[in-house]
Amino acid sequence: MTVLERVEQVLASVRPSAICDDCMVHKVKVARRQHTNKKSRTLAERPGYSRAVGTCASCHSTNKLVVWKK
Ligand SMILES: [Zn+2]
Repeated sequence: MTVLERVEQVLASVRPSAICDDCMVHKVKVARRQHTNKKSRTLAERPGYSRAVGTCASCHSTNKLVVWKK
């Protein structure tokens, strides 16, 4: 499974809530945070995904950059 597929899987599991990059890294278990950031950015640019500052469904932090599946 590719990182992008794992990111999609994580987003589908929290849907319709959003998840922050830190939790995404933890859930996808990617060592390099930058790598996941790039993947979630790529994902957010695809139809059906959004990215904005909001609340994370996993760690419940507010004002974090989160991504979600619409
Ligand atoms: Zn989080």
